[in-house]
Amino acid sequence: MVKAGANRDLVAVQGLKKYFETKKGIFSRRVRWIRAVDGVDFHIQRGEVFGLVGESGCGKTTVGKLILGLIRPTAGKIYFDGRDLAKMSDEELRRLRRRMGVVYQHPQSSLNPRMTVSEIVGRPLEIHGIAKGEEKEKIVLDVLKEVGLGPEHLERFPHEFSGGQQQRIAIARVLVLKPDFVVLDEPTSALDVSVQAHILNLLSDLREKFSFTYLLISHDLNVVEHMSDRIAVMYVGKIVEIAPQSELRDNPLHPYTQSLLAAVPVPDPKYKPKGIVLRGEIPSVIDPPPGCRFHPRCPYAKPVCREREPEFSEVEDGHYVACHLVRA
Ligand code: SF4
Repeated sequence: MVKAGANRDLVAVQGLKKYFETKKGIFSRRVRWIRAVDGVDFHIQRGEVFGLVGESGCGKTTVGKLILGLIRPTAGKIYFDGRDLAKMSDEELRRLRRRMGVVYQHPQSSLNPRMTVSEIVGRPLEIHGIAKGEEKEKIVLDVLKEVGLGPEHLERFPHEFSGGQQQRIAIARVLVLKPDFVVLDEPTSALDVSVQAHILNLLSDLREKFSFTYLLISHDLNVVEHMSDRIAVMYVGKIVEIAPQSELRDNPLHPYTQSLLAAVPVPDPKYKPKGIVLRGEIPSVIDPPPGCRFHPRCPYAKPVCREREPEFSEVEDGHYVACHLVRA
């Protein structure tokens, strides 16, 4: 169990699971379960950037959707500002969502192509009854300025912008409600490398200025390391390691984390990657391996790893890991 930081926590997740039902074939009656999230614990402190990293399909996007209340968990608890989401009425959830925002990977598909920038950014103010008319226009202009856009962009449509500018519009749409908590789901993965750093810097600046709390989801450890205060590493529906950013970089304990770090490109031809190089494919979340889910790919696997799931325990202050070979 991950120690919670009491009232410093904005989000706390306990034993969270999300299974999706699937059938083997269209004529099959046999139900199988996709164990997208299979018992995860963590907490996010106010003002913190909490990074969640892992390969595609490991369940990290599902974790984001669960916290945002977009889907219901199969089991486990989610607390936001100390309140259990499962015990909230629809009206309370609706009000809570005003305090949350999300920036998706593909801005072009998250922005309505028939709406102008002014309409896209101003719409949340109308939906939540915050402002209309001239007051709304002034707020929209102020927010556009914060993301590096100006009045000349107000009446233009999303397709008239580059990918980086579209992501700025998507960020402005979130910013306009001044949320406490923002899920950034692969916010730069669909962008050119040249604009990725600009968007990450913009998100960092906005966090400083507006005291946002971020859950940053990415398959790219480079991106997560760049922005996060603490990092959780996810593998096949489970969190295998959580540590402060510098501790995870300097002292990765889980072999999977070591393999992710070894894969981060370093611009030095003489650099020899430390740690292990990952081989094999990520296993299916429908029928994950028994014991430690990483054992088919782990060079240190022992017989116990195939039989018993390792506990997720704190080995140093704030450093949690799930591996039979790591002891406190
Ligand atoms: Fe490898 Fe075993 Fe540790 Fe899993 S528990 S990461 S298989 S050593």
